[in-house]
Amino acid sequence: MKYEAVIGLEIHAQMLTDTKIFCGCPTTFGSEPNTQTCPICAGMPGVLPVLNKKAVEFAIKTGIALNCKISDYSRFARKNYFYPDLPKNYQISQYELPICERGHIDIFIDKLPKRIGITRIHIEEDAGKNIHSIGNYSLVDLNRAGMPLMEIVTEPDISSPKEASEFMKKLRTILRYLGVCDGNMEQGSLRCDANVSIRPIGQTYFGTRTEIKNINSFRFVEKALEYEIGRQTILLEEGGSVVQETRLWDSSTGITLSMRSKEEAHDYRYFPEPDLVPLVGLSAKAEEIKKSLSELPDSKRNRFITQYNLPDNDAESLVAEKALAEWFEDAVRAGGQPKILSNWILSELLKLLNEENKSITECPIKPSQLVDMLKLIENETISGKIAKAVFEDMYRTGKNADVLVEEKGLIQIKDEGALEKIIEDILSNNPKELERLKAGEEKLIGFFVGQIMKATKGKANPQLANELLKKKL
Ligand code: ADP
Ligand code: MG
Ligand code: ZN
Repeated sequence: MKYEAVIGLEIHAQMLTDTKIFCGCPTTFGSEPNTQTCPICAGMPGVLPVLNKKAVEFAIKTGIALNCKISDYSRFARKNYFYPDLPKNYQISQYELPICERGHIDIFIDKLPKRIGITRIHIEEDAGKNIHSIGNYSLVDLNRAGMPLMEIVTEPDISSPKEASEFMKKLRTILRYLGVCDGNMEQGSLRCDANVSIRPIGQTYFGTRTEIKNINSFRFVEKALEYEIGRQTILLEEGGSVVQETRLWDSSTGITLSMRSKEEAHDYRYFPEPDLVPLVGLSAKAEEIKKSLSELPDSKRNRFITQYNLPDNDAESLVAEKALAEWFEDAVRAGGQPKILSNWILSELLKLLNEENKSITECPIKPSQLVDMLKLIENETISGKIAKAVFEDMYRTGKNADVLVEEKGLIQIKDEGALEKIIEDILSNNPKELERLKAGEEKLIGFFVGQIMKATKGKANPQLANELLKKKL
């Protein structure tokens, strides 16, 4: 039997507000345990939460960008459960009336668009963190308790692990464009729970799903889902059945492990949060926010294709980071040709940045410096091959291309007399190869051009070298 996968994601994104969602504690990452707490986020009796206005605005902003319907009326709900990192014994979340519903994101799989539905976006507080790695006891750090989270839930529209990671990448790009989440998966600012089931192809109803918790990288989303789809397939093929449960992804072994049987919504005894007033008039707020929204990745991508005549793939890669798209456009404004710039940015520049795990905002080369270097290729001062070395030097030293070319004597040899002399030497030093070439072995032209480049350390003008070589032969 052939099976297909059905996947839905629940993503938690930590919002980039300065303070927590219901108190004034700072949201800085990596501070000493329990230094960013107050009676409210520590769950002391008798305290009252005060909602962070920014968190609501960020959720609305995200809802608009994900094509959602923004609710005019929304309220908070208590999700009741006991765990040592949850000092109130309930989490303030949202349940039947979230801020946003029914949106979508379009992703591209092998250049074909696929629409993934967004079920809802709600806001809630994060829990603290239990630390089990010290001594024979556990410790609780409440710095994270009350951190502002946005939960984004997708429809079960995702059909493969690859689609799931593409979706995560696209979502991350959008959140970063909006400035509502830094998307830092290593620090846990963006993490996902993946729900997955399989069913025989052709079956209309869904199979039983499992939920894999807290996946924190694009690669792990794919790996965890691949493993889980494989596990479920073997179970069904052996005549067994999938148990609905929560599983944990173990990245060190590459497998998922059963964590607990799945709880249902009614286990949480949700009820409206009595300590917070409902949110009203959100539609008007949404209209206001809509006006201030800047260009989003999809429109930027389409504009790059039409305005700069770029291939889909180039446009897609350039808009993946807002700062990268801006760097590219700065270079265009400085006088570069869009496609040539795109080639250099996506291959040479990203290669150098990735080697050092740097982002484009830390790039030591300015857009205009790349444009100036490209002019040196255009006016044949340097060859394309030398240019790559010059570019790397520019990156390492911050110096301009013309300075480096001058310093290192890299100017192309266009002097016919000098080149002719070099070619004559090479021909007489390689009599065997010359014989074979004369006997019709055309590919030896490449050998001789290579020799010329070697002798001139890549500085010979390639066209001229070719012409002169043919003339000599
Ligand atoms: P809960 O909040 O209890 O985990 P939800 O009904 O909100 O449950 O669903 C959570 C996620 O699971 C959603 O992303 C949804 O698309 C997905 N999902 C629901 N049913 C299935 C299924 N049978 N197979 C795969 N994913 C599913
Ligand atoms: Mg869930
Ligand atoms: Zn606090």
